[in-house]
Amino acid sequence: MATEPTPTQEAMLFGSRFLTEDAPDGPFPKTGMAALDAQRLVEEELQLEGDPNRNLATFVTTSMEPEAQQLIAENNYRNFIDHAEYPISAEIEQRCIRMLADLYNAPGETTGARCQGSSEAIMLGALSLKWKWKERREAENKSVGEPNLVFGGDVHVVWEKFCRYFDVEQRVVPLQPGKYTIGPDDVAPHIDENTIGVAAVLGTTFTGHADDIRGINDLLVKLKADKGHDVPIHVDGASGGFVWPFLYPHSEWDFRLEQVRSINVSGHKFGLVYPGIGWLVFREKSDLAEHLVFYENYLGETDATFTLNFSTGASMVLAQYYNFVRYGREGYGYVMKAMQENAKALVEKLDHCGHFELIGENEEQLPLVAFKLIDGKGYDEFDVSWQVAAERGWMLPAYTMPPDAQEVKVLRALVKHTLSRAQIDRLAKDIEHACDTLEKKGKGAHKSERKKIKRSPNI
Ligand SMILES: *Cc1c(COP(=O)(O)O)cnc(C)c1O
Repeated sequence: MATEPTPTQEAMLFGSRFLTEDAPDGPFPKTGMAALDAQRLVEEELQLEGDPNRNLATFVTTSMEPEAQQLIAENNYRNFIDHAEYPISAEIEQRCIRMLADLYNAPGETTGARCQGSSEAIMLGALSLKWKWKERREAENKSVGEPNLVFGGDVHVVWEKFCRYFDVEQRVVPLQPGKYTIGPDDVAPHIDENTIGVAAVLGTTFTGHADDIRGINDLLVKLKADKGHDVPIHVDGASGGFVWPFLYPHSEWDFRLEQVRSINVSGHKFGLVYPGIGWLVFREKSDLAEHLVFYENYLGETDATFTLNFSTGASMVLAQYYNFVRYGREGYGYVMKAMQENAKALVEKLDHCGHFELIGENEEQLPLVAFKLIDGKGYDEFDVSWQVAAERGWMLPAYTMPPDAQEVKVLRALVKHTLSRAQIDRLAKDIEHACDTLEKKGKGAHKSERKKIKRSPNI
């Protein structure tokens, strides 16, 4: 057993002993340390992490208003699940769900849940699809076979996770070079009586575009009329759920479409709240499978729960409600349009510099720029990502597209409300400069200088 050094008198008097000693990282510490030392120890180590202002990769919120931060800090002790002790927090969750149902044009009274993020919301939404499918089969006295779920290769990894964790066959429609979303013709051949649903994406993590949800809906409406198979759609609006209602209000992807039965959205992406909040909203109360609701009375009152977790903080729910009342449709619209305008400015600059080909920049898209090098360069997208990080510290992710478009490499820059027009100008120049450097180095010279670091586009 390694003995732990005791701090010298001088270290205690003049500064942190961790200036000259390793941070505890193995055995459970025998003795403690002063609060200030512990705080410094943690903070100093964290300083080496990425700077969110140069992170063009993440969809997740990295900045909130001071008033919101205060609200979060003051309410961290509140255990959200404890509805008996904190009934107002629970009521605020319900208000948020009603507001989202309104934003998504639900026809009437609905239900939903606050989740840890879209991943939990998707697990729960897809579990509900599975149980509703079973109920339908049993009600019709039909055999219950092996359930399957249909989606495109453009989905987030969580959909494959769901299928593996909950024993559902995944029927994945492959992408193709130049085709990065799916539509009705793609899903039609995969659907049968054991299809629990189709998962459609609103704002893919790869290029920021939407599947043809309207087209898929029309296909499924026809299938219901012709063959009696009622196949629901779950829309993964993790990112798009807070973008489309404000940038493309006339585009129909939500409960205006008959087969869309549930929607998830990440509060911590374009809902503009710090990490730890996602939402699941059903079209109607009956779309939530009753089988998934648990009634318990440990905390003093009988409560219905529908979650994968139990205890969790209430702060992010309160912060989401803060944003809803603070911004309203008008404010969210303003922020989304500002990001879109800045994304367009970046598109123009990248187009103008002549190195790149933009991906779907004139289609409905998240506020991001997806682009690739034009053919015939002696370097690739990973080199650009590496070079721009080395020169300026920008985290500009490069990745390969999912099968069968895996030969296509893409660069992607999120344009969030923390990225001003001045920064956009700087970024465009820095990207161009990185390309010039790579060109000067000559064909292949840079290859030996770095490992190919593949960043997950799924963040
Ligand atoms: C981010 C994302 C997810 C996962 O959401 P979390 O909130 O990070 O759990 C799922 N689907 C899509 C399309 C996403 O962009």
